[in-house]
Amino acid sequence: MAVSYEEAVSTFEWDIPDDYNLPSVVEGHAEAHGDRTAVTFLDDEGTREERTYADVARDANRFANALAGLGVGEGDRVMHLLPRHPDAFAIQLGVLKRGALLVPCSAMLKPKDLGFRANDCEATTMVAHADLTDMVEPILDEAPLETRIVLDGEADGWESFADLLDGQSGEHDGPDVGAQDPMSINYTSGTTGQPKPVLHRHRWMRAFELVNAPYWWGVSAEGTAVPGDDGSEDVDLDEEFLWATTGTGWAKWFWSPVGVGLTVGASQLLYEGDFDADEFLSVMEREGVTRLCAVPTQYRMFTQTDLSGYDLDLTEALSAGEPLNREPIEALQDAFDITPRDGYGQTETVALVSNYPGIDVKEGSMGKPTPGLGTTIIDTQEETEVETGEIGEIAVPVGNPGIFDGYFEKPRLDEKTFSGDYYRTGDLASRDEDGYFFFEGRADDIILSAGYRIGPFEVEDALVSHEAVAEAAAVASPHDERGNVVKAYVVLADGYTGSEDLTGELQEYMKEETAPYKYPRRVEYVDELPKTSSGKTRRIELREREVEQFGE
Ligand code: ATP
Ligand code: MG
Repeated sequence: MAVSYEEAVSTFEWDIPDDYNLPSVVEGHAEAHGDRTAVTFLDDEGTREERTYADVARDANRFANALAGLGVGEGDRVMHLLPRHPDAFAIQLGVLKRGALLVPCSAMLKPKDLGFRANDCEATTMVAHADLTDMVEPILDEAPLETRIVLDGEADGWESFADLLDGQSGEHDGPDVGAQDPMSINYTSGTTGQPKPVLHRHRWMRAFELVNAPYWWGVSAEGTAVPGDDGSEDVDLDEEFLWATTGTGWAKWFWSPVGVGLTVGASQLLYEGDFDADEFLSVMEREGVTRLCAVPTQYRMFTQTDLSGYDLDLTEALSAGEPLNREPIEALQDAFDITPRDGYGQTETVALVSNYPGIDVKEGSMGKPTPGLGTTIIDTQEETEVETGEIGEIAVPVGNPGIFDGYFEKPRLDEKTFSGDYYRTGDLASRDEDGYFFFEGRADDIILSAGYRIGPFEVEDALVSHEAVAEAAAVASPHDERGNVVKAYVVLADGYTGSEDLTGELQEYMKEETAPYKYPRRVEYVDELPKTSSGKTRRIELREREVEQFGE
């Protein structure tokens, strides 16, 4: 039975049992439907491996036994450096069974990044794939990673994962772990500076199950009561195949494959290969993916290919991490009759704002506040809620189980982010009369030009709607009279070359598409934009280039 958004908001309850922990949830699924595939792993060479819920629960226990043998236990920090891998869930759950903390690292991190994290949180254990141990070796002098475990291979000074599991029991008797016990230290993406260590507790996973699963993915463990203004239908998990394209080291991995897929007990796809639009579309078609979660860059790449040849079983498409442009929304609507639904949140939180299933998606909006969180928009100085239409900072009342309660041993950072009654996200937005949120940009990315406040997203969104533009980033560029002007870094679509004529054309186009004061007075063509390894545009680097070139 479906419920309306208003009803969901007014009846929401944080039902979090004290003894809640993720491994026991997965064990519950193993008991209830142990034969259901938890994960189907594919790589681009055609390898296919499946793990059922019973397999994952058993292997997690075997790994926990092995970790116990190595002396890894409560409160220890265990880093992992893994590609998308069929054993990733079992490894993560095994660590949690020991009452230890996961420190997920993206497989794209370099020794410097790993050394920073290992020292910052004083990790003692590292689980790495054999292809990635080279990234760890150079930091062993400076980082206290005493215990090292290698997956799919051998390395000197490393225990083999396969050997460790050999002969272990599929039961594990570990410490009691509950909802308020620490679960992980997730480093933020580092889009605005040094990555920050977010300490999460087991309740985070329950919060995903209560919020992200129904109000974004549209699934629940019972398969029922998916909300929606249009009275969405019940969902049969046996008919669903979820795919979140993220890697194992990102908060997104916890947001979706773990926080939704595992908590509700769904079947999901794990594709090892790097992003390629046609490859991803073919995989989706072949495997019968029904719900996809990808990032805006990937959706933008989908629109650069011919979608008409694909026959998908897809019913839902989700996006998060950066604002979603209207281009891909329209392209997916045209090709597949699906409206991608944007969701907003952070490493620090669950989904704070979402286009929940059944909502009328408004162009350019990231949706409405999710039930249970009370996400609002406040004046950055006064810390009071702003009026409809006014821009302010997205904030969440403190003491909410859907957000973290502090960075790991960073009291000064805590002070900055938890001021007064709110957790402050550092993101700016406005709200319309229907309660829809519109993302303006990160507080740091806002362009102040001749008295105007310009959000980079609006400029970029309008630019990429021009056929010559594949990607764009707008930043402030210092200017004597105006303080700043809008500068657009543009990656051109195939077949176009940058020229003064094209710049003139883009500028004229922009004056038609957006309020004229937002048009980019400076345009530069580049082959690619600087990005975090999770694919987010690092406007901070571009801003610095402008300051170097044009002065403060
Ligand atoms: P750091 O905090 O280290 O600078 P980061 O903020 O990019 O990095 P994440 O926690 O991965 O690290 O990303 C959260 C941020 O991503 C949000 O604060 C917001 O700026 C942006 N974001 C996430 N989802 C959306 C969305 N749907 N629309 C617009 N922006 C989004
Ligand atoms: Mg952040």
